[in-house]
Amino acid sequence: MMAFFRLLARNRLALAGLVVIGIVVVLALITPLLPLADPDVTDTPNRFQPMFSAGALLGTDHLGRDLLSRLMWGTRLSLAMGFAAAVIAAVLGSAIGIIAGFYGGRTDNVIMRGVDMLMAFPYILLALAIVAALGPGLMNALIAVAAVNVPFFARNIRGITVGIAHKEFVDAARLAGMRNREIILAEVLPNVLPVIVIAMSTTVGWMILETAGLSFLGLGSQPPQADLGSMLGEARSALITNPHTSIVPGAMILVIVMGINLLGDGVRDALDPRLKSGALSRPMPATTVDRDGPAPAARTDSLLDIADLRTEFRVRNRVYKAVGGVDLHVEKGECLGIIGESGSGKSVTALSVMGLVASPPGVITGGAVHFDGQDLVGARYEVLRSLRGRRVAYIFQDPQATLHPLYKAGDQLIEAIRTHEDVSREAAHRRAISLLKSVRIPNAESRMESYPYEMSGGMRQRVGIAMALANDPDVIIADEPTTALDVTVQAQILSVLSDLRRERGLAIIFITHDFGVVGQLCDRVAVMYAGRIVEEGPTAAVLRSPQHPYTSRLIDCVPTLGGGQRRLAAIPGLPPVVDRLPHGCAFADRCDKAQAECRAGSIALAPTEPARKVRCLFPEVAKERSA
Ligand code: ADP
Ligand code: MG
Repeated sequence: MMAFFRLLARNRLALAGLVVIGIVVVLALITPLLPLADPDVTDTPNRFQPMFSAGALLGTDHLGRDLLSRLMWGTRLSLAMGFAAAVIAAVLGSAIGIIAGFYGGRTDNVIMRGVDMLMAFPYILLALAIVAALGPGLMNALIAVAAVNVPFFARNIRGITVGIAHKEFVDAARLAGMRNREIILAEVLPNVLPVIVIAMSTTVGWMILETAGLSFLGLGSQPPQADLGSMLGEARSALITNPHTSIVPGAMILVIVMGINLLGDGVRDALDPRLKSGALSRPMPATTVDRDGPAPAARTDSLLDIADLRTEFRVRNRVYKAVGGVDLHVEKGECLGIIGESGSGKSVTALSVMGLVASPPGVITGGAVHFDGQDLVGARYEVLRSLRGRRVAYIFQDPQATLHPLYKAGDQLIEAIRTHEDVSREAAHRRAISLLKSVRIPNAESRMESYPYEMSGGMRQRVGIAMALANDPDVIIADEPTTALDVTVQAQILSVLSDLRRERGLAIIFITHDFGVVGQLCDRVAVMYAGRIVEEGPTAAVLRSPQHPYTSRLIDCVPTLGGGQRRLAAIPGLPPVVDRLPHGCAFADRCDKAQAECRAGSIALAPTEPARKVRCLFPEVAKERSA
């Protein structure tokens, strides 16, 4: 709730709207307490007094009634009418929408065709017809305005409800034995409530105008009672001779409606959950770079060289240091594994390479990423765009989420090819088929016509790999590509990747949390913990004699088939939260060898044996492990 108000306050216009509406509402509430003249007492000798005359600050109207007093009472009535109409329309309309959307089928059909009939009439004409049938009067005008707005809410809310009614959590509630009524109240309503509030906040102003409109035509409030619309209506005949009688209520309507609309837009933006985490803007095409020093030089002449990379997330007043100085390099044709617990910063490191971390809130605060000799941190967007997918491609964890659900697999492949290369559709089509074959998809020709939902998880991930291969990249960054798959499919995918690497000389950065997978595929492995590399070396050597206690613990977590019965180890404790990293070794709190020195200051990633490095003051002594 506080976050909501803070977001709202950041939007200047919405804040202005809130202040204006706040003042108007407070004035309307305290009107009966103010020392105002009676709004309905006529005083014809003093009619049409100008503004600022004695005893009548805003002058008097055609019957000599005090305009200030009428304005205050009129505003009170108009606001009350508008809000009441909005609440009635929202409650009725939403109830209708939820019922139609939730039950579907014939219920939906009957209800929505009725709503459509109401919507087929011009808005104000329908309101006029209702008042004509019921007779003029305040209450009837209120009913008319509420009634013509019910369809608007019903349509909106029905659409949202249809989407929610088929979600898994609703099925789960049903399985748990909840009745429909309970599901609607406990599962559906909380999800549509923000939408109802948004729809209300953006329509209240409109309803105040409509009630004022009916009163203006003499169908709403009846004389002598004042509301803003009837004041305007009565002043109409004196518009030229005594314009202030029209300007006073007219200006008030303008202020109220403007204020409510600004506020309504702000409420809508602040309630949109997608906007909550960041600023009120869309992510930029490339991660923001805010380097506080000069770019470090490449440490090696490798194909891809990451030097002292730092990426953090700035969320409100917190800073999450997701990647805190990572050094990595990958040679042509090499497979580098990055391993670490969930949350250790593997994905953020991978995404930083091509500037794909969402900004806001992500910021690259230091380091360099040299690809083929060129620093990509802070490179122009056009440079990044021409490299993305063409020379450095990604494979993500969940192919269900990365493939577009509404396009055929083949068309998505063709699009990936033609984004970077000016080839005919036929040529791209042929290439797509050969790509599908190279990732061992059976019946590649007919699979081109399949939609993602028609494929199994392993099949979809193969399409994902084929897309990554589409432009013959030099490096593929695979971020846990097999985590969502079962072990047999995982084995197939790994063998596809391994073959491709040999055939095409691909460099692969393979991110995983599974040492078994690293052992099968990777030449070298880097172990990550709390945003830093804690150990790096050739896979076989690291697996045989891990030097960092964390690596050693991670390896102990891997079950081995036929390895006899042993207790599987688990690492006690949790990784540190990256907005409050400890001084010194981040693993110290979970390490049984930790000494006071470990917590004293930062520890360097130091070379031990040839090609091996470890970030630990007391590395494990090389003991041969039985593995
Ligand atoms: P993993 O190693 O599992 O891939 P990530 O690289 O995704 O981990 O995340 C690293 C850290 O960055 C985590 O601690 C996570 O909480 C933090 N993080 C990731 N995205 C955001 C974000 N948008 N806002 C704040 N923190 C984030
Ligand atoms: Mg990840």
